[in-house]
Amino acid sequence: MSTVIFLGGHRRPSPAVVRRYLQSRTEGSERVQLRDLRAATRHGPELGPEAEPMVGGPGAGGPIRLLYWRRYPRKIGRGHSFLYACFRHGAGEVRFYPALKSPRAPDCPFCRIPR
Ligand SMILES: [Zn+2]
Repeated sequence: MSTVIFLGGHRRPSPAVVRRYLQSRTEGSERVQLRDLRAATRHGPELGPEAEPMVGGPGAGGPIRLLYWRRYPRKIGRGHSFLYACFRHGAGEVRFYPALKSPRAPDCPFCRIPR
């Protein structure tokens, strides 16, 4: 299972906006459905020390709103398709693509640069 998490701070991220963002950065064959996005609420202590700078600002101590995109492996022939991410598209950019599981990450279809 692959999980991508969107932090919304004290406001819940919009599922429609997050879906558009994911769809624009995901290989065309991979459909991102609204039902695949799940809302959750967390509190600072649950998120660990890495989150402390994020929860220390205005409204400190309040809940943190999240959206999860869960993508389960899909059976293709004898194998399973997993979701991979490529972070070589510039600061803050990422591309997602499905591929069969392999010992080495498959090439990204967006940049086609061998890993
Ligand atoms: Zn890439």
